[in-house]
Amino acid sequence: MKIWIDGKLYEKEDAKISVFDHGLLYGDGIFEGIRAYNGNIFRLDQHLNRLWDGAKFILLDIPVTKQEMKDALKETLKANNLKDAYIRLVVTRGVGDLGLDPHKCKKGTVIIITSNISLYPAEVYEKGMQLATVPTQRFNVASWNARVKSLNYLNNIMAKLEGHQAGVPEVLMLDSNGYVVECSADNFFIVKDNKLFAPPQYLGALCGITRDAIIDLAKRRNIEVREEVFTRFEVWTADECFLSGTAAEVLPVVKVDNRVIADGMPGKMTKQLISDFKAIAPIEGEKF
Ligand code: PMP
Repeated sequence: MKIWIDGKLYEKEDAKISVFDHGLLYGDGIFEGIRAYNGNIFRLDQHLNRLWDGAKFILLDIPVTKQEMKDALKETLKANNLKDAYIRLVVTRGVGDLGLDPHKCKKGTVIIITSNISLYPAEVYEKGMQLATVPTQRFNVASWNARVKSLNYLNNIMAKLEGHQAGVPEVLMLDSNGYVVECSADNFFIVKDNKLFAPPQYLGALCGITRDAIIDLAKRRNIEVREEVFTRFEVWTADECFLSGTAAEVLPVVKVDNRVIADGMPGKMTKQLISDFKAIAPIEGEKF
């Protein structure tokens, strides 16, 4: 496996960064998870726009242009002979000293890792997944905005750990008002009376690229899409629930907090959107 760091490809064993990198010391940096399907990188421009917006928010200068980043991604995929892949793009603040001051970091570090994707088992896609609400809440947007896909993912990791303790593979996270925000690493949707509901992004959910694709696909089918706040009441009484994310794609959710959603089977709209997503994933991308 070859890994790209700051302009060079390294074998996995030799792909190393400094212990003084602020990405390691402070989680000071940002990342992207991107998919390639059959030689096409899915919605690459959107991923890069999100990365650049995150960089702007944390005042980080990405030391390459978007075009150079695209070229580096494609070079790494080719070097690894991958047509279908999960791509992890990481930009850290770079090497500084032990103090917090980001100005000591003269240049950001860029890392590109490409690998085969490991999804949830096929059975979960057919039968649906179970979620549980966890005690760890999403941040109040005034203290930290989780729209930045930052290297500091401890809030998500705490939620994931609490999910493990509850015996579920993914979780539901609320904000301090009890509104549903998202999962630990996926966005969340519900369906009620043939309308599709998604928590609004101003609550501090990640602006998922898959979420956007699902909203597009629903609109193409003339489904009414509402981005508005809802609580667990609306989840427990929904007709359908599902989650979306680059790695998981679109996954039915059939139980939340041990409560069966509708009849406990993946819903009709969910199945339709899963099949629509499968159809666009290999074609809505940038060739490499
Ligand atoms: N929310 C969080 C917290 C995430 O980390 C992710 C990405 N894994 C998502 C939602 C889904 O976003 P995307 O569709 O862009 O992968």
